[in-house]
Amino acid sequence: MTRKLTGAQIRQEFIDFFIHQAGHTFVPSSSLVPGGDQTLLFTNAGMVQFKDVFLGTDKRLYTRAVNSQKCMRVAGKHNDLDDVGRDDTHHTFFEMLGNWSFGDYYKKEAIAWAWELLTVVWGLPPQQLWATCFRDDIGDVPQDDEAAEAWRVQPGMDPSHVLFFGRKDNFWEMAETGPCGPCSEIHLDRGPKYCNRQGQPGHTCRVNGDCTRFLELWNLVFIQYNRRSPTELEPLLAKHVDTGMGLERIVSALQDVDSNYKTDLLSPMMDVIQRLTGHSDAERLANITPYRVITDHSRAAAFLIADGVVPGNVGRNYVCRMIIRRAARFGSKIGLNEPFLSAVADEVIAHYGDFYPELKRNRSIILDNLKREEIRFQRTVEGGVAKLENLLNQLKSQGERVLPGEEAFDLYATYGLPLEITRDIAREQNLEVDEAGFRLAMDQHRLVSGAGEAFGPLGGEEVDVYRVVMEDMQKRGLLGPQGVVNDPYHSLEVEGPVLALVKDGRSISNAKPGDRVEILLPETCFYVESGGQISDTGTITSAGKPEWEIQVVDMSKPAAGMVVHIGEVRSGQPKTGDQAIARVDAQRRRDIMRNHTATHLLHHELRLILGEHARQAGSLVAPDRLRFDFTHPEAVTTEQLERIEAGVNRNIQGNYRLNIAFKPLQQAITEGATALFGEKYGEIVRNITIGEPEPFSNELCGGTHVDETGDIGIFLITSEGSVAAGIRRIEAVTGRGAYELVQRRSRALKQVANLLVTAPEETPAKTQALLEELDNARKQIADMRSRLAASNFTLDLGNNVQNISGVHMYTGTVAGADADTLRQMTDLFRQQYPTKGVILLASESEGHPIFVTAITQDLVGSGFHAGELAKFVAQPLGGSGGGRPTLAQAGGKDASKLEEALASVPDWIQSKLGKKPL
Ligand SMILES: [Zn+2]
Ligand SMILES: [Zn+2]
Repeated sequence: MTRKLTGAQIRQEFIDFFIHQAGHTFVPSSSLVPGGDQTLLFTNAGMVQFKDVFLGTDKRLYTRAVNSQKCMRVAGKHNDLDDVGRDDTHHTFFEMLGNWSFGDYYKKEAIAWAWELLTVVWGLPPQQLWATCFRDDIGDVPQDDEAAEAWRVQPGMDPSHVLFFGRKDNFWEMAETGPCGPCSEIHLDRGPKYCNRQGQPGHTCRVNGDCTRFLELWNLVFIQYNRRSPTELEPLLAKHVDTGMGLERIVSALQDVDSNYKTDLLSPMMDVIQRLTGHSDAERLANITPYRVITDHSRAAAFLIADGVVPGNVGRNYVCRMIIRRAARFGSKIGLNEPFLSAVADEVIAHYGDFYPELKRNRSIILDNLKREEIRFQRTVEGGVAKLENLLNQLKSQGERVLPGEEAFDLYATYGLPLEITRDIAREQNLEVDEAGFRLAMDQHRLVSGAGEAFGPLGGEEVDVYRVVMEDMQKRGLLGPQGVVNDPYHSLEVEGPVLALVKDGRSISNAKPGDRVEILLPETCFYVESGGQISDTGTITSAGKPEWEIQVVDMSKPAAGMVVHIGEVRSGQPKTGDQAIARVDAQRRRDIMRNHTATHLLHHELRLILGEHARQAGSLVAPDRLRFDFTHPEAVTTEQLERIEAGVNRNIQGNYRLNIAFKPLQQAITEGATALFGEKYGEIVRNITIGEPEPFSNELCGGTHVDETGDIGIFLITSEGSVAAGIRRIEAVTGRGAYELVQRRSRALKQVANLLVTAPEETPAKTQALLEELDNARKQIADMRSRLAASNFTLDLGNNVQNISGVHMYTGTVAGADADTLRQMTDLFRQQYPTKGVILLASESEGHPIFVTAITQDLVGSGFHAGELAKFVAQPLGGSGGGRPTLAQAGGKDASKLEEALASVPDWIQSKLGKKPL
C-alpha cells in the first residue's frame, strides 16, 4: 500500500505537493519565540505567524501558503509536559504541517487536495479514512453541509464514513471573540490490532472514541465567521483555510508503527541513548519512559537554543532550563551520570539540520549550553533531591499527601530543582505538590527581594486586565481597532486622554502620589524595548488643571496593540479621562539614538575587518553605552580593534544621511539588507541604509536613529571579550558617554603627570624610567640581604665548626635561602677551611628541603664525594641528589626530618675515615 518514506521525505512531499499541485508559497517556519506577541510563551501552532492576517491587521504578498512550523506546548493553556514520556504521542516540541488560504480557495479545494495527498500520493486506503464535519450541538450555527458534500464526492470515499460532531470536536475559535469557524478532521482507522482496549466489556472502537485504533490525522479549519459576542456571529467577507497535521503522527501512520518514538524522526535519538547506557533491547523497553523523555526533551532543547532561548531563570529561559534538567534527571535514572545530552542533541542536529539550518549554524552553542547546564545541575541536584526525599518521608510519616508550595520553591531557589522535577519525584511516591503555593511563594520572593527579573512571571498573566480595558475603550470609540498608536519616530511629545490607570493588576479611576501605576494612552511617542534598544523614560503630566505628574520609568507591550507606560505618581491625583501630555526624556533618547546608529556602523565595520562571518548575535542599545554581540571564533586583536574603532569614526566624520524606507521584506533582502536571524519580520519592513552613493550599511530595524552619522560625535570601544563559544562582545560609548570617558581618562592622566612632575605626553617614558629604577632598587635590596646573611654566617662559622677526627665540619639550616645563596656560603666556608673541610647546608623551599654540600679538594683523594653525601642525607627524606666530588646538591620531600639528616653527617664522615684513616 504505502511507499516507504523517511520522515524528512514525508515533510518535503507535503510541501512540494502544495507548491507544485496547488500553487502555494513555501513560508519557512517562524521562530519558537513568537515575535511581538507577549501573550504567548512559545509558538504553539502553525497559525501563530499568520494570526495578524486572520485578524485583518496584516497583509501578505501571497494568498496560499504551505509550511512546517516548529511548535512547543510546554506552558500555559496548552501544556503537554505531563504526558511526555508516559505515552507514545505527546511531545513538548513537534512539527505542524499546514496549508493556508488567505481569502483564496475554500472547502472544496482544501478537501480535494487533502484527499489526493493522503490516498494518491501517500497511498492510504480510502476505506480506512473517515471524515468529521460540524453540526452544532447548541443549534446556533448552521451545519457544515458544504464540507460534508465535498467529502462524499471524493474518489473512493465511503459516504457512511462522513460523520458529524459538535463544538468540542469540530468548531475552532481563536479566542472568546474574533475569527472562528467549523473544522473538518480526517481520521485513519488503523485496524483492530491498534486498539488498546481490546476485549474490554462495553468498548466499541469509533472515531473520536476512547481507544488508539482511530488516529486523527489532519484538521482542516474553515474560518468564515467573526465572533462579536458569545451569541453573535457575523460572516467574514474573506474566508480562510488553516490546516494542521502533526508531522510525527502522519509519519507514524505512513511508517506503520504504533509509537512516534519508533519513527525515524525519533528512533535515532533513542538508539544513541541505548549506546550510551549499553542497555540490551529488553532493558531499553523496560526503561522506555526515561528514553522517551530524554529524546523528546533533547530535541526541544536543541531547537530552543537554536532560536536563542538558552537556560535561565525566567519565562522561556526557565522552560529551557527545566526541560534540560528534567532530561538529565531521567538520564540519572538509567545510569547516565556524566553529561550526555549533547550526544543526543548532536543526533537531533544531524537529522533535522538540513531542513532547519539554524540547528547546524548554532551547533556548538547548543552543545555547549547543554553540557554547561547539566554540569550546573549536577553540582546542586544531589543536595536538592536528598532534601526533597527527607521532606517527602516526613510528609508520609505525618499521613500528609501534599508538599507545601514554599518547600517546593525553596528547593528551586536553593538547589535549582524546578517545580516540574519536584512534582515528578513526588508523584513517583504518590504525593502531590501545592503548585498554587509554589507560585505564591515565588511572587512573595519577588516582592521581598525586588528581583522582578530573576523570578518573573511565566508570561501572559497580566494581559487580561488590559484586554478588558482596551475592548471597553474600543467599544466607546476612544481607541482604534489597532489599539494604541505607537509612533516613536516623529515627535517626542504627544497629547491625549488617560484611557486607563492600572495599579497592582487592577484598573483604577484615580491615583495618588507615590502610587506605582501603569498608564494607557490612545497614542504614545515612547519607544518600547525591541531589537536591543531599551525603552524610553519621561513624564506624563496633566494638560490642564489640576496639575499632576507621573514619572515614566519603563514601557511594556504585553500584546499586539497594547502599549503601556509604567511609572510613579510624583504629584497630584491623575484620573482616567484627564487630558495628558506624554514627554520622552529627550536627552536620554538622543543618547540612545547615537548609540543605535553606532551599532549599525560597528556591524558594518566588523564584517569589513573580521569577515562576512561576523554577524550580529545580540545587542543592547542603552543611553550610556552600547553592547554588540557577534559571531567570531577568536579574540579580536588590539590592532583589529583599533582599525574597527577608526573605521566607525571615519564614517561618523563622513556625516552620512540615514535613509529610512518602508518596503516589502523580499525586496529589502534582494537589495542586500541584513535580516537578523530569529527575528520576526512583517511583509513590510523598515529598512535603514547609510552611505552614498552605494549604501555600506543596510539593515532591517525598527529602532530610532540620528539623522546624520556626524550626530554621533565620537565612538570609543571600551571592551572586547567572549560571551559564549564562538560569540564575542564589544562594548562602546558614543557622544556624551564618550566625552565623559575621555574627560575621566584625561583627568586621571593629568593627575599622573602631576605626580610624576612631567607633561602628560612624557608620562610613558617617565613611567618606564621609574619602573627600571624600581627594578634596580629591588635587585640591590636582594643583594644586600644575601650579603647580610653571609656576614652572619661568617660569624657563625667561627663558633660552630666541629672537629670530627681532624675534619672540619659545619652543618646548618639557612632560613629562606635558595640553592644559589647556599652555594655562595659553601665558598665562604672553603675560603676559611681550604683543607679537611666538609660543609652541608639545608634550607626549605615550599615545604621541600634542599641541601648543598661541599668538600675540600684534598678530601676527595681520601674517598670523600660531595655527591655521595648529598644522596646519603636526602634519601631518608624521600629525595635524591648528586653532583661533583667537591660540590653537590639534593632535594627531599619530607622537611620534618631535616634536623635528623644534618645530625647524620658526622657518622658519614666517620665511615669514610674508617675505611681510610687520614
Ligand atoms: Zn478500540
Ligand atoms: Zn538597528
